[in-house]
Formats: sequence, structure tokens, C-alpha cells
Amino acid sequence: MAFNDKVVIVTGGSRGIGRAIAESFARENAHVVITGRNPLTLTEVAVELSLLGAGTIVPQAGDVSKTADAAQIVKATLEQFSRVDVLVNNAGITRDNVLLRMSEEQWDEVLNTNLKGAFNCIKAVTKPMMKKRGGAIINITSVVGQMGNAGQVNYSASKAGMIGLTKSVARELASRNIRVNAVAPGFIETDMTAELPEKAREELIKGIPLGTLGQPEDVAQLVLFLSSTKAKYITGQVVNVDGGMVM
Ligand code: NAP
Repeated sequence: MAFNDKVVIVTGGSRGIGRAIAESFARENAHVVITGRNPLTLTEVAVELSLLGAGTIVPQAGDVSKTADAAQIVKATLEQFSRVDVLVNNAGITRDNVLLRMSEEQWDEVLNTNLKGAFNCIKAVTKPMMKKRGGAIINITSVVGQMGNAGQVNYSASKAGMIGLTKSVARELASRNIRVNAVAPGFIETDMTAELPEKAREELIKGIPLGTLGQPEDVAQLVLFLSSTKAKYITGQVVNVDGGMVM
């Protein structure tokens, strides 16, 4: 897919879906900057990913919900590579509770990480991408942003917000040859879904036409395609990778 020497930032690249995305780009010989809040884990993951391809893998610790951290991640990337070709806004958290018991803190934490984090990173990469006359931004949203989910008003609002963010930024930056798309995973086997009790998991699977949870690689392959020139005429879209949950 011609990612040789391209520079990719994957937020939340230390595990789960973000790690699988970073691995896919590493295998395509891209330089990949992985972010997360735990510098030790990031460094270990970067060493492992470095074995997969010819690109440099850079661990860059930071909290995307903080404007200064997001700016610093991009600044460090530009200092090392002088460009950013792809940004994948994948960092995300859940703090589940029913509405009546949800605290302001739970609401703020999720909105600040998932939605404001994506905004912070997009803002930081936009000028460098405009200077290089192109780029691709992929926002990892969720089927829950399309369907809603009891017990996740904060998370589903953040993910629905990411869809609005995607479409608006896509319209603003299309004339600069910067494409912006969202990927909406269904239920994917990661730490985030590992805590589901067996009964809830069985119920969930009943609502998935393809009959199983997805794997992080299923999401990574779509992100790779949408970031590549093969998707050069695709912008402002939400593409689901969900075993048919939403159709
Ligand atoms: P995960 O295994 O919990 O990984 C989350 C990643 O985000 C970690 O690398 C984590 O690293 C990082 N992160 C969290 N908060 C951060 C912050 N404030 N700043 C920087 N990095 C941060 O989650 P996942 O299941 O792979 O999910 C990845 C994305 O896909 C999320 O946006 C999630 O909402 C979305 N998604 C997941 C599913 C699913 O079924 N798993 C379905 C739909 C959408 P640190 O903890 O070290 O910071």
C-alpha cells in the first residue's frame, strides 16, 4: 500500500486495536509514532514493532486529553521526521454507569479523552499536513455512537461526537487534500471487552449476524486501506467493521 517512509501517529498504540493498527503500518515499512500514558509499556511495544519492518517505531508518551501533550506528540514527530502523513485517533476509554448514577467526573473523563483528545490531535497535525499538501486522518468511533447503549451515555455521546467531528473536518480540509474518515468497530476482543461476563457476551453475540466478536486485526486492515492512496476518493465516511451489527 506504499507506506514506505510515510509517518503515522497512532494514539493509544500500546495495546488492543491501536497496537494492531501500529503493527499493520510497521509491516508496511512506515515510521510509526505510538502514544499512550505509560512510557514503559510504550517503549517495550516499540521494540517489538521495530522487528516487523524497515520503519522507525517511536514511543511518545502523553495524555491526548491534554492539549499541550497532543501538541508535544506532534512537535516531537515533526522534529524527527519533518512530516505527518497519517493520524489515527484511537485512544479511548470507558467509564460505564447508568445515567442516574453517572458522575460528572465519569462524563468528563470519557468526553475529554475520546472526543477532545481527537480534536486536540487533529488540530496539532492540520498545519503540517496542509504544508505537505495532503494527509489522512482516521477516527476510531464505535457502533455505540450510532446505536446508543444503556449504561454508556458518556461513551456513546463521545463516539457520536467523533462522527460529527469527522464529517465537519472532512468538509473543512477536503480542498487541502486531507481526507478524514471514521471507523466504527463493533465488539472487538481487547482489554476493553475482556471484562464482559460470559452471559452478557453470549447475549451480545446473538446480536452479531456473523456470530463472533471481531479481532483487532479486522479493524487494522480497514484503517490501513482508508489511510492509503487506494482510498483517495473516500472522505467524510463512517465505515463499520462490526460483523453486521449495524446495517
Ligand atoms: P484498550 O485495549 O483499552 O486500549 C486503549 C488504548 O488507549 C491504550 O493504548 C491506552 O494506553 C490508550 N489511552 C487511553 N487513554 C489515553 C489517553 N488519555 N491518552 C493517550 N492514550 C490513552 O482499548 P481498545 O479496545 O483497543 O479500543 C481502542 C479504540 O477503539 C477506543 O477508542 C475504543 O473506544 C474503540 N472501540 C473499541 C471497541 C472494542 O470492542 N474493543 C469497539 C468499538 C470501538 P494507556 O492506558 O497506557 O494510556
